[in-house]
Amino acid sequence: MPVTITAIDAFHLRIPHDMWAEPPLFAGRPRTHVEAVYVRVTTDKGVVGWGECNGFSGAAAVTAVETLIRRVAVGQDPTDSELMPRIERMLHGLGRAGVIMHAMSGLDIALWDIRGKLEGVSVSKLLGGAKRTRVETYASLIQYAGNVENVKRITARALERGYKHIKLHERTPEAVAAARSVTGPNIPIKVDTNCAWLPGEADAPVAAMKASNPHWVEEPIWPPEDFESAAKLRKATGVPIAMGENATSPSDFRKMIAAGAVDFVQPSVNKIGGITHLWKIATEAEKAGITCVPHMFYFGPGYLATLHCIACKEREVPLERMFADVAQVPYAKTVPDVNGAVEVPDRPGLGADPEPELFERFRA
Ligand SMILES: [Mg+2]
Repeated sequence: MPVTITAIDAFHLRIPHDMWAEPPLFAGRPRTHVEAVYVRVTTDKGVVGWGECNGFSGAAAVTAVETLIRRVAVGQDPTDSELMPRIERMLHGLGRAGVIMHAMSGLDIALWDIRGKLEGVSVSKLLGGAKRTRVETYASLIQYAGNVENVKRITARALERGYKHIKLHERTPEAVAAARSVTGPNIPIKVDTNCAWLPGEADAPVAAMKASNPHWVEEPIWPPEDFESAAKLRKATGVPIAMGENATSPSDFRKMIAAGAVDFVQPSVNKIGGITHLWKIATEAEKAGITCVPHMFYFGPGYLATLHCIACKEREVPLERMFADVAQVPYAKTVPDVNGAVEVPDRPGLGADPEPELFERFRA
């Protein structure tokens, strides 16, 4: 029985969070909310799928979904594996990355959710089966602008809540040392610098972080597509390098791996083109000996999509989880994070739909 997409809608949610200190600026405004864009795809069989776009694209992503994506996807068969490649080619002249690819990411995730629901199997099953049923999460602290007291205080809080991996968004060796003084030697500490340095500026601070044994240093170089400079830094310091949340296609990942720039690749499901591209990147990278640890700073359908990919891929890695008190955590009851770990749902599709109250309470 053929299935047809009958409607596509997008919802911009802003869910307040408390990071227990002054929020940093992000893209021009204080980071006080979980920004999210959820995509709902309805079919004529009554099956509804959910996806998610990069939330900071906000109203721009909603517009892209409800104009461009809706126009090319309504009336199509959601089980057609050629649908996404066809749409990608059809829209390529509008840009191969950014908001348009964020919108396609939301559609792609929703299509996987629909396919699982139609077949009565989980997305993990569609990806070949989960290799693990439980995935550890890591506490990804928001940025505390080098304030070592805050870094210590919030790191201690993450450990109290059961997390066994920490990520900082800090740029100074002192901040990393502060976190290490709290964790002791055995907790992996990842350090995300968000493209802090021009080539040549990064060697000294990254080398100085080495004393605190960072698990990786993430996106040390501006611009993020300068893979040659990242490779030089990696070689010069011997510090493991992670990147990829700002890459724009599977071919970018091939290039960064070929350049010797990375130890860990981090495609972001809400930005890179959804599960289809993320899965391709993870598979290719791990075949090449590079570990895929997807970027995930959200809580919606993209979080579940990433959870399934991590459950199914070759190498075991933790799932990123933004560390803050959020006014309402999506899937808190259906897919709870307990003491720094989540059970991989084996219900059809992604395994849970977003709670209706989210849309009543937090629609932007
Ligand atoms: Mg990052």
